[in-house]
Amino acid sequence: MINHWIDGKATNGTPERTADVYNPSTGQVSDQVALASQTEIDAAVQSAKDAFPDWRDMPVTRRQRILFSFRELLEQNRDELARLVSSEHGKTLADAAGEVQRGIEVVEFCTAIPHLMKGDYSEQVSTGVDTLTFRQPLGVAAGITPFNFPAMVPMWMYPVAIATGNTFVLKPSEKDPSVSMFAAELFAQAGLPSGVLNVLHGDKVAVDGLLNHPDVAAVSFVGSTPIAKYIYETAASNGKRVQALGGAKNHMIVLPDADMELAADAAVSAGYGSAGERCMAISVVVSVGDAADRLIPKIKERMAALKVGPSDAPGGDMGPLVTQQHRDKVSGYIDAGESAGAILVEDGRGFSVPEFPDGFYLGPTLFDSVRTDMSIYQDEIFGPVLSIVRFDTFEEAISLINNNPFGNGTAIFTNDGGAARKFQNEIQVGMVGINVPIPVPLSHYSFGGWKDSAFGDHAIYGPEGIRFYTRPKVVIQRWPDPIHRGVDLGFPQSDGT
Ligand code: NAD
Repeated sequence: MINHWIDGKATNGTPERTADVYNPSTGQVSDQVALASQTEIDAAVQSAKDAFPDWRDMPVTRRQRILFSFRELLEQNRDELARLVSSEHGKTLADAAGEVQRGIEVVEFCTAIPHLMKGDYSEQVSTGVDTLTFRQPLGVAAGITPFNFPAMVPMWMYPVAIATGNTFVLKPSEKDPSVSMFAAELFAQAGLPSGVLNVLHGDKVAVDGLLNHPDVAAVSFVGSTPIAKYIYETAASNGKRVQALGGAKNHMIVLPDADMELAADAAVSAGYGSAGERCMAISVVVSVGDAADRLIPKIKERMAALKVGPSDAPGGDMGPLVTQQHRDKVSGYIDAGESAGAILVEDGRGFSVPEFPDGFYLGPTLFDSVRTDMSIYQDEIFGPVLSIVRFDTFEEAISLINNNPFGNGTAIFTNDGGAARKFQNEIQVGMVGINVPIPVPLSHYSFGGWKDSAFGDHAIYGPEGIRFYTRPKVVIQRWPDPIHRGVDLGFPQSDGT
C-alpha cells in the first residue's frame, strides 16, 4: 500500500478509499495507492502550516546545505528513481533516467538560493531615506502533477517552493505515485525538517480539498487543459496565487530547404519518444511545399527500426501507454482519423508483446494528408500518433499554428535564417525550437506555454518560479536621526521636500 507522507513519515492507517497502480508493461496491478479523505487533507496542510514559521526563518545558507545534500542523495539513487518511474509509467529506463536528470537540475538551480533571494537597495532616495526590497515566501504551497513526468514535474515545483522558504503539499498523479514517496524520503534524509514537504495521494477529492483550503496560499498545477482551467479559476476565486500549465498540440514546420535527415530524426524522436506522452511531444508535422514527399520515406525507415516493448527491456525505444483506458482512447483516435479520410501510412493498432499480452501497448502510427477539421488534428492525443498536414506556403503554416488554441511548444526545420527569424518573431507559442524539436529550457530559464497551454502569470521553475513562490516587500527607512518636520498631509515627494 502506498500511503501518504505527512509530517516527515509515511502514514500507516488503512485508507477509506484506494486506487490500483499498474505496471503498464505487464498490464498487472502492482500496488494500491491511498486516496485522501478530508481528514488526511487537513493533516497534510496542518503539518505544512506548522512547519512554516521555523522553515521560513531558517538561515538561507542552512536551507542551501540541505538542498546540496538532497541533490547528492538524488544523484546516488538515480537508478532507483528511474526504475520507479519506468515501472509505473511505462517509459523506458533510459527515458526515465533522463527525466530524473532534468529534475535534479532544478534542485541544482535551487542550491543557488542565497543568490536568488537577494533583494535591491537604494540609498538616499530622499534626504536620509533609503529603500530596500526583498522577497518573502508565501506560506503553504500545493502542487498537483500529471502522470507523464512523475519525478520531474513535481521537482519543477517543490524544490523551488521549499528553497524560497515555503512549505509544500504535493498531490502527485495517482497513476504513478511511488517516486514522489521515495524523493520525500531522500529529502528527509538530507535533513529537511518534518512537515516541510508532504505528499498527499488522491483524486479530485484531494485536489478540491487543497483548492478550497484556507491555509493553502499558492497552487501550482501541471496537467490537461480542462483541469488546468478549473484549477486556475477555483484557486484564483479562493484568493490563491496560481499557475496552471495545461495540454498541448505541438507543430513542427518543415520547410523544403530543411536537412531532411535531421528533420526525420527529430520528428520520430519527438513524436514517439515516451510513446508520445509528453506535453512537448510533436504531434503535427506541417510540411511546406514538397517537404513531406521527401520526409515521409525517411520517417518510415526510422519507424521500422523502433523497438517497442516492456519499459525495462535493454535497448528499447518505446514502452507501453500508461493505462489500458488511455491506450484504448488513443487507438480510438486512429480509428477516427482513418474514417475521416486521412492516409494511414503506418498503423500501430494491434501491436502486442507476446510475453505480456495484457500490457498496454500501441505501435507508432503515422498519418499523412491530415485535415484540420479531423479530431486527430484538433485534440491532444497524447500517444504515439504523428500527423502530417500539407501546405503550399510558409505563411499558411504559421497561421495554422497561430490559430491553434494551444501554444506550448513548436519547432521549425530550415536552413533559411530569415525564415527562422520570422518564425521566432511571429509564432504565438511559448517555447520555440529552431532545428530543435523539443525546446524545453534548462533549469535556469523558465518553462511555460501560451494560450490554452497555461493559465496564470508565471511560468514554472527558474527565475519565474522564484517569483511565483515569493512576494516582494518594500521597506522605506530613515535612520538614525529623523528630521522633525512636523505634521504634513501632502503626499511624500522624492526630492525630500
Ligand atoms: P490530468 O489533467 O488528468 O491530471 C493531472 C492532475 O490533476 C492529477 O494529479 C490528477 O489526479 C488531477 N485531476 C484529474 N482530474 C481531476 C479533476 N476532475 N479535478 C481535479 N483534479 C483532477 O493530466 P494527466 O493525464 O495526468 O497528464 C497528461 C496531461 O498533462 C496532458 O494534457 C499533458 O499535455 C499535460 N502536461 C502538461 C505539461 C506542461 O508543462 N504544460 C507538462 C506535463 C503534462
